[in-house]
Amino acid sequence: KKQSLSSPRPLPEITLADVGGLQNEIKQEILQTLTTLKEPERSEKIGIKPPQGILLYGPPGTGKTLLAQAIAKELGANFFSTSGSAFNEMFVGVGAARVRSLFQNARKQSPAVIFIDEVDALAGKRKAHGGEEAEKTLTELLVQLDGGHPNEGILFIAATNRKDMLDEAFLRPGRIDFSFQVPLPDTQGRKEIIDIHTKGKRLATDVLASLDELAESTSGFSGADLSSLFDTASRHALRNEQDMIRKQDLDYAIDRTILGATSRTLNDM
Ligand code: ATP
Repeated sequence: KKQSLSSPRPLPEITLADVGGLQNEIKQEILQTLTTLKEPERSEKIGIKPPQGILLYGPPGTGKTLLAQAIAKELGANFFSTSGSAFNEMFVGVGAARVRSLFQNARKQSPAVIFIDEVDALAGKRKAHGGEEAEKTLTELLVQLDGGHPNEGILFIAATNRKDMLDEAFLRPGRIDFSFQVPLPDTQGRKEIIDIHTKGKRLATDVLASLDELAESTSGFSGADLSSLFDTASRHALRNEQDMIRKQDLDYAIDRTILGATSRTLNDM
């Protein structure tokens, strides 16, 4: 995945409503955070500082990237997005230079959201990851996050599946002010996500009638699994020259997705 650090990425037309299965408290917290960012003066009058950085943590495919995009969209911010592994370099100083240039570019094009997925590759515990290059890169990130840089207009969002791997210095308030857990969805969450991903798709009546049951029977599925379930069903219907998703298309997709999920679980072991 080659990613440019110098220009923002186009954002899809999404809002927080497109992220399903978020617990209400988390949604409220995020909305409040957005308000402090949109109205910094009013917030500071009542003693709330807008956050510098937010961490989203949870299993793969639960919508962390989607949430970061929705936040950027709501803020009307340019979206600079990359992966922590994009900073891993062989030569000392290269990763650090890359971090610096990312923040410089974002400051030039503020308001901006800097989103770093798999941030554990960049901000992992110092002891564990070792190496002079990695050390320098992390130090530069910490400097950019607080070292007296004027970061107004920039929100840093990091995502990880491994919060336990992150360096404590990185997680300090003033760098990361809020950590939000984005867990696998429960039944109600899966129903919300199913509704989001079937919106605008034609479904046969029996499929429509089985969506509650689908939400109940897909325990362990992530949002990404549910999304790919309906994509697979659509493709299967199309291959069979249908113009709507039938029960057999959905059943086919469920079998495929369960196979995929199972082999993933085996790989994780
Ligand atoms: P990773 O940790 O692998 O980067 P992630 O948590 O960032 O995963 P996303 O990339 O946001 O997950 O999710 C992939 C796709 O799955 C999304 O583009 C969306 O279509 C779907 N999806 C995932 N979670 C949700 C959700 N909570 N609500 C709606 N759709 C979701």
